[in-house]
Amino acid sequence: MRALRYHGRSDLRLDDVPEPAVTPGRVKVKIHWCGICGSDLHEYVKGPITMPTSDHPHPLTGESLPLTMGHEFAGEVVEVGAGVQKVAVGERVAVEPLLICRKCHCCRSGAYNRCVNFGAIGVSGGGGAYAEYIVVDPDFVHPLPVGVSTVAAAVAEPICVGWHAVGRSKIGPTQSALVIGAGPVGIGTLISLKAAHVEFVAVAENSSGARSAMAAEFGADLLIDTSTQSLTDEIARVTDGQGVDVVFEVAGVQATLDYALAAVKHGGTVVSICVWEYVPSMDMNTILAKEINLLGSQAYANEYPAVLQAIADGRIANPERMVTKRVSLDDALDQGFQELLRHRGDHVKILVTPWSSVPR
Ligand SMILES: [Zn+2]
Ligand SMILES: [Zn+2]
Repeated sequence: MRALRYHGRSDLRLDDVPEPAVTPGRVKVKIHWCGICGSDLHEYVKGPITMPTSDHPHPLTGESLPLTMGHEFAGEVVEVGAGVQKVAVGERVAVEPLLICRKCHCCRSGAYNRCVNFGAIGVSGGGGAYAEYIVVDPDFVHPLPVGVSTVAAAVAEPICVGWHAVGRSKIGPTQSALVIGAGPVGIGTLISLKAAHVEFVAVAENSSGARSAMAAEFGADLLIDTSTQSLTDEIARVTDGQGVDVVFEVAGVQATLDYALAAVKHGGTVVSICVWEYVPSMDMNTILAKEINLLGSQAYANEYPAVLQAIADGRIANPERMVTKRVSLDDALDQGFQELLRHRGDHVKILVTPWSSVPR
């Protein structure tokens, strides 16, 4: 089958690889759609960052480059191994792409997104979803509720990241939030805040293009274009100088971290959601004086069913709107990866499909 494999920096190839065979206790999924993630772009341009190289194979999979990429995906069960009860052939599913050890204290406590051996399909081995088929663990396969498309289920992945971060923040409906960065995870965070009925959500983005338009579409109460406006002035203006209760930092650059510490109110919370390419400096005296709660939020744990249900019952309305382009697997490098690198501001989520016609 065809699979888009990462061989190293700036080296993605559409390779012919063996189609994976189902084994007892596992499930074979025909991939419908897979979203291109910002982390895939980071790996492509600056990697290998988290993808395992031959001198450091991933501890869970034992695999190293070249590896098939792609982790934000949904499709259809085409074969189940002996003993699988959870799903049946023909069911449409989202696959939660995490690889965990099940043995460490985090896995045993249920917070498996903190697993000390944490990995992900499409990053650490275990197959990837820029391909035709994948064989996965049924515990991480979630049947789609009626009315949820495989397109919606593919974009459920970045929404789950936001949903988890919103849960971590413990924000309440009468509180205020600022989301810095309106890429897929920023939009997923906004969607999750609105599904939790948070009254006031400001979204900051350093352009006025498609990403800001998307934030407006999903209900942002205030848009701040940091290329022309002062974020701190705008937040001070709308909060009587107090700052917001919770800032979600989804951009991962020094300036946005500084904004986050400036825009949060005394006693407020800053949630860090994105992967950094470098180690930033942090004004610890501001954290001290304002008594800021600083939280990390990685991926998700037990959130997929809740997000899929919220899509089904309309609390998350039409998340397919996040998709700004759909491309074939054959064109994924040029019209997906390169397009995002050339025109990042024009896109939120680009989806890849290996098939010429896919049921939606
Ligand atoms: Zn992702
Ligand atoms: Zn673990």
